[in-house]
Amino acid sequence: MALQPEEITRIFLQDGAAQYGGEAVTQLQHALQCAHLAELSGAGPELITAALLHDLGHLLSTKTEVQSQTEDDVHQYIAIPFLRGVFPDAVIEPIRLHVDAKRYLCMADAGYWAALSPTSQRSLELQGGPFSPEQAAAFIERPYATDAVALRRWDDQAKNPAATPPTWVHYAALMRRACLQT
Ligand code: FE
Repeated sequence: MALQPEEITRIFLQDGAAQYGGEAVTQLQHALQCAHLAELSGAGPELITAALLHDLGHLLSTKTEVQSQTEDDVHQYIAIPFLRGVFPDAVIEPIRLHVDAKRYLCMADAGYWAALSPTSQRSLELQGGPFSPEQAAAFIERPYATDAVALRRWDDQAKNPAATPPTWVHYAALMRRACLQT
């Protein structure tokens, strides 16, 4: 079931031209921009790779565009079984937690919700809405929660149709460096 970096590359280059939800960028552009923002922030190969692959679940999901407007596609979990055994927790956990990080930020950061795109505000409701103060306090104690929050902020910014991040080849090399050494 595990996907090797070459297979992940094939999926993004074949299917990444799909639009990223209701946003003005494709899945591939969104992934590259998110990875670039991580790189510019000084993140290491693992967190850059998490940023690159955080929405791989959208490309693996069998749900249609219409279905995902009315049901949570749980895309943060779909990719996880495909990444286990290939990548360390430092890649996998921020991906798994990046939707919970949005729910956390809606509670912890007063201006966060209003700055989300309309598409992201809509999906938040399907994803369970903002965390309560107790849920937020428990979330941020979890391993890799702060990495997931950082990823989430890059994710929210990575929707700029005019951005010109480096190409897939650059991030594929970082992705290979982030793999478990077998
Ligand atoms: Fe995303």
